[in-house]
Amino acid sequence: MRTGHDLELVHVTKRYGDAVAVNDVSHLFRGGSYVCLLGPSGCGKSSTLRMIAGHEGVSAGSIVLHGAEVTHLPPARRGTAMMFQSYALFPHLSVRDNVAFSLRMKGVDKPARHRRAGELLELVDMARHADRLPSQLSGGQQQRVALARALVTDPQVLLLDEPLSALDPFLRVRMRAELKRLQRELGIGFIHVTHGQDEALALADEIVLMNDARIEQAGPAREIFNAPRTEFVARFMGGHNVIALPQGRFALRADDVRLAPEGAEAVVRAVEYQGGHVALTARMAGEQELLALIPEAAFFADPKHPGDAVRLAWDEGRLHRLHA
Ligand code: ADP
Ligand code: MG
Repeated sequence: MRTGHDLELVHVTKRYGDAVAVNDVSHLFRGGSYVCLLGPSGCGKSSTLRMIAGHEGVSAGSIVLHGAEVTHLPPARRGTAMMFQSYALFPHLSVRDNVAFSLRMKGVDKPARHRRAGELLELVDMARHADRLPSQLSGGQQQRVALARALVTDPQVLLLDEPLSALDPFLRVRMRAELKRLQRELGIGFIHVTHGQDEALALADEIVLMNDARIEQAGPAREIFNAPRTEFVARFMGGHNVIALPQGRFALRADDVRLAPEGAEAVVRAVEYQGGHVALTARMAGEQELLALIPEAAFFADPKHPGDAVRLAWDEGRLHRLHA
């Protein structure tokens, strides 16, 4: 059963003066799903998110939540909420009062808002720190408080703009598992902006990949990774080679390239140990460089070094045609 409310962007454009930050974007965000809005810096992710939140007006187009147009409603009346970076917590308010803040603005009485704040702090496992000030918390703990603060208004869609970027890599991986768990438990939609393809692959039911103010490709994470439509998608998602052949351009997953005696001649340019795999870059005839991800054990059974002549092979069926 699908819960949560669909959110739809219909021909949404955002201009800042002459510059077009979001160019005629249409997309249906399915209710209750975890969507990652992915793309390089400057491609229009935050502008899109801010328009959904209502912190930024649209230049053209409309935004529809659960069948109702919300394009011109103020942020607090849309059914969406934005999770702000943890440094946006009020430093002089306790954790409890930070979480209860928007309820106070709505005129909810103190016992009721403290009860609700308590429930949310429970949800993010921070109830025991309710009386602390933000400065008395670790980065990860502040992040949880920011999350509870955004959820206190019972949004149908939670909007998160690079929520993990301020955390160290270890904490980032832990927090992202936490976000995923919370989204499942709440059953509401999350729209999570990130420029990290690994983060999007790890989290998203659907990835919406933006490039230059437009959606380049949208679909389930495995579809975006395995069937990139364009060279941009293949290169941005990583782990692929883009090969030019007389019939056109093709993507080939790096883990589909192997060292094999019957393969094409190449010279090793670089070798990088990555743990489970070794990333070997080699140059073939015609300057074409190929990346091969070789399982650790196979590589070290017969290790290669820069300058070595090798042969590379792959199954023709694994070539995936790209569109211009
Ligand atoms: P992203 O979040 O993907 O990095 P943004 O949505 O922040 O991208 O920005 C998209 C484009 O719009 C960029 O070229 C950026 O410089 C421009 N932009 C963003 N906000 C403003 C603003 N308030 N005024 C003018 N230009 C802006
Ligand atoms: Mg941004």
